[in-house]
Amino acid sequence: MIKPQRMCIVCRKSIDKDKLFRMVENEGNYIFDEKQTMQSRGIYVCESLNCLEKLSKHKKYKVLMKDLAEIASRAKKRENKLMNSLKMMKNSKTMTFGMELVQENIAKVNLIILAKDCNKKNTDKILSICKERNIRYIITASKKELGEVFSKEEINVLGVMDKKSAQGLLD
Ligand SMILES: [Zn+2]
Repeated sequence: MIKPQRMCIVCRKSIDKDKLFRMVENEGNYIFDEKQTMQSRGIYVCESLNCLEKLSKHKKYKVLMKDLAEIASRAKKRENKLMNSLKMMKNSKTMTFGMELVQENIAKVNLIILAKDCNKKNTDKILSICKERNIRYIITASKKELGEVFSKEEINVLGVMDKKSAQGLLD
């Protein structure tokens, strides 16, 4: 099953459309199209607060402030929820960390969690592996924040190998 992808207008990472926020043109402004179904030209932005902030200052795309605030709060909520779940599983031995180990153990990986500030090269690489092997993924938090959960300095990518834990994180 191939999911449609779109590009974040700010960081230019190509990500599953349903993981991005869509905005459409409306009387000279861009407004949040929550269900991604409005019949108008749309742009997409990822969940990164950095991208949302840059979009708020964009010269070409004027997004209504209240809509941007709504998107930012949704992004933050999703992130907090996931980080709390990760904290609860931090002692489980079913995780693998970093570009090399994740790729090495890829056959056992059921879910990939990618830091939102992971560079474009590694992001593209991981996402193409996910696509090829049909592995689900979540893009969330910063490398530093993910690192903190597991008492490491930084984590750019982690793989969840246990099926149950993967499902728990996706719910
Ligand atoms: Zn972005």
